Amino acid sequence: MKTLKIAIQKSGRLNEKSVELLKNCGLDFDNYKSSLISGVSNFPLEILFLRDDDIPEYVQDGIADLGIVGENVIQETEVEVVYLQRLGFGKCSLKIAIPNSLDLNDVTELSGKSIATTYPVILRKYLKAKEINAEIRTISGSVEISPGLGLSDAICDLVSTGGTLKSNGLKPFCNVMSSEAILIGKAGIENHEHVQELLQRVQSVLRAKETKYVVLNIHKDNLNKAIELLPGVKSPSVVPLADEGWVAVHTVIPESDFWDRINLLRQAGAQGITVMPIEKIIF
Ligand code: ATP
Ligand code: ZN
Repeated sequence: MKTLKIAIQKSGRLNEKSVELLKNCGLDFDNYKSSLISGVSNFPLEILFLRDDDIPEYVQDGIADLGIVGENVIQETEVEVVYLQRLGFGKCSLKIAIPNSLDLNDVTELSGKSIATTYPVILRKYLKAKEINAEIRTISGSVEISPGLGLSDAICDLVSTGGTLKSNGLKPFCNVMSSEAILIGKAGIENHEHVQELLQRVQSVLRAKETKYVVLNIHKDNLNKAIELLPGVKSPSVVPLADEGWVAVHTVIPESDFWDRINLLRQAGAQGITVMPIEKIIF
């Protein structure tokens, strides 16, 4: 069977997390230095290191079978690819921001204004859906300085913490889209045996990230109370301790409500609570 190719960003905000994800999937390869392609020694896969803007088209056209790229770039390039998995990193929002001095209350008040962006396709669709007649100024970078230079009234740009907006005298006004890194594939590739294997590995790594492995000691009298607080993968393992009145409970806890559960467990009499990261969870 032909060796699959996956395209990832060669440097930038998604590079490190993309490499880490693939390594956590057990793939052994050299990270990008100067070569564009790196072979994986223990899986039929090659890694292409590219600029993120090129990834969606390369995947659509089959030059790469798979890719990891921000949803913002996928939507902007209007390609036909399949979403295989949302990856939970590279989170950001495409927002319209306006100068602090501009007083607007509703998005419709953007009508008649000019908006500078590197995302004209997404912005055009957004404005059309909201029936806003604003002028789009497409520029290739440093969007945040354009109101200050008198190039536009507003901007539409990617924001994560909002620090760049603030330091340029801008404030977020409305959300155009939320984005994160996505594992995409060429249409039809999802049925490929090795893609399914890789996808399973990716999902097991993501699941493991969302959960923690917890071991705690508890008196047998309080065991039922503790078990009610612990869903586990199926049900928790209960191991006898040398002291006959006590047991150790092993389980996994979702990261989302981790502290709430831990506090409830302590109230239920749990002691010596030990928490460990999980590498993979395979169902
Ligand atoms: P390249 O050289 O590959 O073209 P780039 O400069 O276009 O890189 P980066 O700035 O590295 O791109 O951002 C890559 C992706 O990271 C974005 O497309 C977006 O999906 C995501 N991202 C997350 N947070 C932010 C942010 N605060 N600003 C910009 N992009 C962000
Ligand atoms: Zn780019």
